[in-house]
Amino acid sequence: MSELQTLIHLQEYDARIAGLEAEVARLPKQIEALQASLVEAKKAVDTIKARLDTTRKELRAKEKDLDDIGVKRAKSEARLYEVKTNTEYSAVLAEIENIKALKGRTEEEILALMERQESLALEIREAEARHRTREEQARRDEAVIRQKLSAAEQELEGVRGERASLARELPRGVLGDYERILKARGGLAVVAVSSTAVCGGCRVGIRPQAVQELRAAQDLLHCESCGRFLFWQEPA
Ligand SMILES: [Zn+2]
Repeated sequence: MSELQTLIHLQEYDARIAGLEAEVARLPKQIEALQASLVEAKKAVDTIKARLDTTRKELRAKEKDLDDIGVKRAKSEARLYEVKTNTEYSAVLAEIENIKALKGRTEEEILALMERQESLALEIREAEARHRTREEQARRDEAVIRQKLSAAEQELEGVRGERASLARELPRGVLGDYERILKARGGLAVVAVSSTAVCGGCRVGIRPQAVQELRAAQDLLHCESCGRFLFWQEPA
């Protein structure tokens, strides 16, 4: 294999390695996103549970209020037999009416709280079901991602090994140049020159003289603009 062909293959390997490295970096982030969405679903359940808890406490307080109102009413009703004057009697009656109204309002509030309690319990069951479904889905998705990850890691290891043995075929100086350009030029060190005679890396025109040399494929040529290795690609 000519040095140029070796360089072309090396570039192919390095492009694959870059792609695999990106995948190996990206897949764990997908797993993190899955886990974050589960935490969100769990948080939704907990939020409703906290609201139910508050509602229960409010309900107990109102039931206590209702008991107190009952006691107060019994006391007022007992006083009806103790009062001496009509004025006092009317005053106690008015008090009893107030207590009755308060009792009515409290009973309505209790009813509303009981209804809220029921609907929150339903919401919790629904949120828990959503959480479970998401958990099952996430478990399946995570297994698929982990499989992809280990496949990519394995492939990466293989490609790196092949790349290393290919790299040994090149003279040290050429390999050094290649790696320096690869690093400086965004992972692209060997590019084709098209029939329109522009560099496949930087799109700058190549001199006709250089194109002739490329077509003869004698020496390694660099783009005068970006420094990448060039090779001639016959128009398809
Ligand atoms: Zn160029």
